[in-house]
Amino acid sequence: MKNGSLPNPAWPPLQSRLPGVAWPAVPGQQGLLLAALLTQLEQSQWWPAAAIEKAQLRQLRQLVEHAQRHSRFHAERLAGFRPDQARGLQDCLAAIPLMRRADLQSCRADIDCAWLPPEHGEVSLAQSTGSTGEPVAVRRSGLNGLIWMAMTLREHLWQRRDFSQSLAVVRAQLAEEDVARRGVSCADWGPPVNHLFASGPSYGMSLQTDVTRQAEWLRQIMPAYLLTYPNNLSALLDLAEADSVALAGLGRLKQVRTIGETLRDPLRERCRCVLGVGVADLYSTQEVGVIAIECPQGDGYHVMSEGLVFELLRDDDQPCAAGEMGRVVVTDLHNFATPLIRYDLGDLAVADGPCACGRGLPKVRRILGRERNLLRLPDGRRFWPLVGAFGYRDVAPVRQYQIIQRSLERVTLRLAVERPLSVAEEAALAEKLVEFLGYRFVVDFDYCTPEIPRGPGGKFEDFICEIAD
Ligand SMILES: [Zn+2]
Repeated sequence: MKNGSLPNPAWPPLQSRLPGVAWPAVPGQQGLLLAALLTQLEQSQWWPAAAIEKAQLRQLRQLVEHAQRHSRFHAERLAGFRPDQARGLQDCLAAIPLMRRADLQSCRADIDCAWLPPEHGEVSLAQSTGSTGEPVAVRRSGLNGLIWMAMTLREHLWQRRDFSQSLAVVRAQLAEEDVARRGVSCADWGPPVNHLFASGPSYGMSLQTDVTRQAEWLRQIMPAYLLTYPNNLSALLDLAEADSVALAGLGRLKQVRTIGETLRDPLRERCRCVLGVGVADLYSTQEVGVIAIECPQGDGYHVMSEGLVFELLRDDDQPCAAGEMGRVVVTDLHNFATPLIRYDLGDLAVADGPCACGRGLPKVRRILGRERNLLRLPDGRRFWPLVGAFGYRDVAPVRQYQIIQRSLERVTLRLAVERPLSVAEEAALAEKLVEFLGYRFVVDFDYCTPEIPRGPGGKFEDFICEIAD
């Protein structure tokens, strides 16, 4: 099965979890599960596309049959459908209607399964910050977490990262913001890397930290790898271009890793130019985990087909040909708690043909998805606003929101609502928003029916900064 002519990266040193055993390493329970999955992923990535689709169909049947039995939503929509009689993956998919974010928002209780195998592990709620500005929540099992970790490790292995080096992380979901603002440090890279591999130190900082402070912190810790969001990387590069010493001394940096937003080619080039290193991007969402990672041998992303079925659909709902742009529709093959079957994520991407690297995993040329901007405060601070977390649903029946910064003093809260809001609800939303943004902006309201229109190119951004440079 494996293409013998292509290099198969050797695993870096493993981390032993058994007391008294240094070598050969014996990993702990999570590490053993991840090793079992990674061993299979290293084989399946080289399977021909048809073999991957055949395996996906086997798993999709399991999922559909479970959903028909235990989810009211799917039982109704898929009544009478026999996935075991589908001739192939495409045939099976064609018989299943699309799910939209609005379905998750309005009838998640019906989508959720009343039962799932207890062996899938503990179920928890994953809140999406909303790549299209519509808040959604999905239940996910321990199994989903395991697959997510396996794909994250696969990305590290494809990029041949040296785990003995240090890692700096500037991101949103860091615990204890006060601590994070000062910078937190760990003895190793944390999960999932430390479940299986030995690793060097890592350092974390909140994305809401001013970029000047971030640069100081990076100069102190001199990381080999930096993980952050494209907009934040761009702000760091702006700073380095304006002040040559801001990021001087980052000579140990080997690579920047980006997550959470669309990475544009000019930013890759700027990073190479300013910091002298390349960028490795990862496409994931809270609802389904890791979707696609960059091919280590070429331009573009490979889809994580062992975990999900990925479709790119044109406006007429037909599959895109190579080079065409379409909507990302995914089926999470292992979520038996809130089955997402042909779920329209609200992101856009460009399809590609087979990859020259030889992997059978489908290729995506570009992820066009969402793009967030940095919020600007009158004192010159700039940071990424965590708009998805501001809790508007607790205050009013908001279906969709968009925040537009018009000036240093004024923001517009654009809403699509289930019913007209009262004056008191508007006031409460405005109060919550200024508290969340950390500055007393004047808040204007703007209502859209039935939904907030998309921007140029069909994209939707939940935060837009209209202040020109
Ligand atoms: Zn490839």
